[in-house]
Amino acid sequence: MSKYIFVTGGVVSSLGKGVSAASLGALLQSRGYSVHVRKFDPYLNVDPGTMSPLQHGEVYVTDDGFETDLDLGYYERFLGIKLTKNDSVSGGRIYWEVLNAERRGDYLGATVQMIPHVTNKIKEHIAVPTNTDFVICEIGGTVGDIEGKVFLESARQFANEVGRRNVMFAHLTLAPYLEQSGELKTKPTQMSVRRLLENGIQADILFVRSPRMLLPDEKVKIGMFCNLPAKNVITSLDVDNIYKVPLVYDSQDVFNIMAAHFGLPEAAGDMSKIKKIEQHLNADLPVCTIGVVGKYFDVSDAYKSLNEALFHASIQNNVRLKIKKIDAEKFTPEDCSDVDGILVPGGFGVRGVDGKIAAATYARENNIPYMGICLGMQVAVIDFMRNVVGDKEANSTEFSKNCTPVIDIMRDCDQENMGGTLRLGAYPCVIKPGTLAEKIYGSNNISERHRHRYELNIEYKDVLEKNGMIISGISPDGKLPEMVEIPSHKFFIAGQFHPEFQSNPFTGHPMFNAFVAAAKEK
Ligand code: GLN
Repeated sequence: MSKYIFVTGGVVSSLGKGVSAASLGALLQSRGYSVHVRKFDPYLNVDPGTMSPLQHGEVYVTDDGFETDLDLGYYERFLGIKLTKNDSVSGGRIYWEVLNAERRGDYLGATVQMIPHVTNKIKEHIAVPTNTDFVICEIGGTVGDIEGKVFLESARQFANEVGRRNVMFAHLTLAPYLEQSGELKTKPTQMSVRRLLENGIQADILFVRSPRMLLPDEKVKIGMFCNLPAKNVITSLDVDNIYKVPLVYDSQDVFNIMAAHFGLPEAAGDMSKIKKIEQHLNADLPVCTIGVVGKYFDVSDAYKSLNEALFHASIQNNVRLKIKKIDAEKFTPEDCSDVDGILVPGGFGVRGVDGKIAAATYARENNIPYMGICLGMQVAVIDFMRNVVGDKEANSTEFSKNCTPVIDIMRDCDQENMGGTLRLGAYPCVIKPGTLAEKIYGSNNISERHRHRYELNIEYKDVLEKNGMIISGISPDGKLPEMVEIPSHKFFIAGQFHPEFQSNPFTGHPMFNAFVAAAKEK
């Protein structure tokens, strides 16, 4: 059986439970243990796919096509693991399943209650087998939230059933710093741990978010009030980059505290992979500026995976990444005067699309490295049809119904009723020999994740290729173009998929690595 670590949070939200959970995973992995991560979000949405990126940041997509919270992206990147729809479980989904079971008569007329019916359903999801040594379960929200209570209750029951030595409770809190008196206040942490205890859960280890390291007597004080050894009180130091968090925890012996709890041998792990990122962050490097022509910049985290993937590629290329956010709605060519590469990311709806097409035009005409992602591929094709092939009516049917439909809905789906018709998740792509795509990936068969409705219309393949834009990647059935490139250009490549979802800080991603390399050369 796997051992479980539940990560909860208190005092305020947004303290970085996801990063803390992933960091614990990194410490375990560095000692040779396998880990899996699962996120429980008490809110009532049935899945996070329907939630506005304006509130929640980007929608992250798993291989199996589940639209999920961006925390799952952290987990996959940090830990090199693949997650599925089993690993993102919301309150809405739990109630949905319970109520459907009730309608089917599964409960045989029993009175359906929070305990045991809802808690049993949550425990079923906690216990989905993973074949890993550890399962880290993050419970979203803040202790004290009404919707979270039943999740904490389920975790308590689960721990009681499988044995307290097989389950560890980690709790993340905040110690506010009072500038005037120079004091770090511990009371909110005490209150938060007490709230957790009201649910029958004693925290085994505390992560206290703070702008400076906790002093030994502060740890003693927190330990005394919160009923745990002072050494189990860990400073979760504010850092300028999330990849430093596992190192902060490692320096406070967090692995050995976990090992002691679970009865495992102490071990000094190999943190060199993560230290390399730290070295990169501290090094003096030439700057490489990538212009990202988008429209969701007022939302922090709307381009989370994209920013990450560019950062990972900057590590691989030994450059200091500077992302220049270019507002597509106000795009002018001067915006690109100081960039080394232009990237047009994914997007939905007509707003800003003209600026994105103009950005593709500018990159193509001025031989500036270009990378297009999803909509970024579609606009590159529209530019090429309009300005190289000469068909000024070329467009996507997403933006105009009376056009040359070079981008169109190409799959069997009901156009009038398009909800749920996104192409989601991993699909195979066959890469044409002798192309830039082949050189970048070093392979002719790849798999990348999708989240879009429209496709490059295969009927325009010949006219595009005759004029110099090659379809270098295509679905195995030859119907859905997946990648385009312009061989006469220095570096011009685009994919219908979202490669950013599969990048990681240790190896980057082939497409981003090559794009940043081309930008660096420029
Ligand atoms: N709006 C486009 C489509 O639905 C592109 C989507 C995207 O970039 N993710 O096909």
